[in-house]
Amino acid sequence: MASLHFCSECNNLLYPKADPQRRIMVYACRICPYDEIGENKCVYRNDLLTVTKEQKGVTTDLGTDPTLAHSNMTCPNCGNQDSVFFQDQSKRKQTRMTLFFVCVKCNYTFTDPALESQET
Ligand SMILES: [Zn+2]
Ligand SMILES: [Zn+2]
Repeated sequence: MASLHFCSECNNLLYPKADPQRRIMVYACRICPYDEIGENKCVYRNDLLTVTKEQKGVTTDLGTDPTLAHSNMTCPNCGNQDSVFFQDQSKRKQTRMTLFFVCVKCNYTFTDPALESQET
C-alpha cells in the first residue's frame, strides 16, 4: 500500500491531493507550501469525452447523455437520423477538429463521412 511521505522542509506528514493544474496527484504539506509529485498518476481520470476512443464502433452510452447536442446525421449502421455529436478532444498533432457522432438508437459511433473522405 501507499507509504507515508514526509515534508522535506518541516518534516510533517504529507497528504495526497489532486493538482488540477498539472492533472497529477501530489503529496502536499499542510504546514508549508511544499509538495511533491505522487507516483500514482492514474488518480486523475479524464472526463468522459476525452477518454472516448478514437475508434469507430466503440460502444458507449453517449447517446443518452443529455448534455450533448443532437444532429440529424444518418447512422451508417441502422439508418436512424438522430445522433449526438461532440468534438474530438484527443491530443493529436493535427489541428483539424473532428466531429464524432453517436447514434442514439444503436450507439454506433461514427465520424462525419464528408471529413472521412478527405483523409488519405
Ligand atoms: Zn512542510
Ligand atoms: Zn444507429
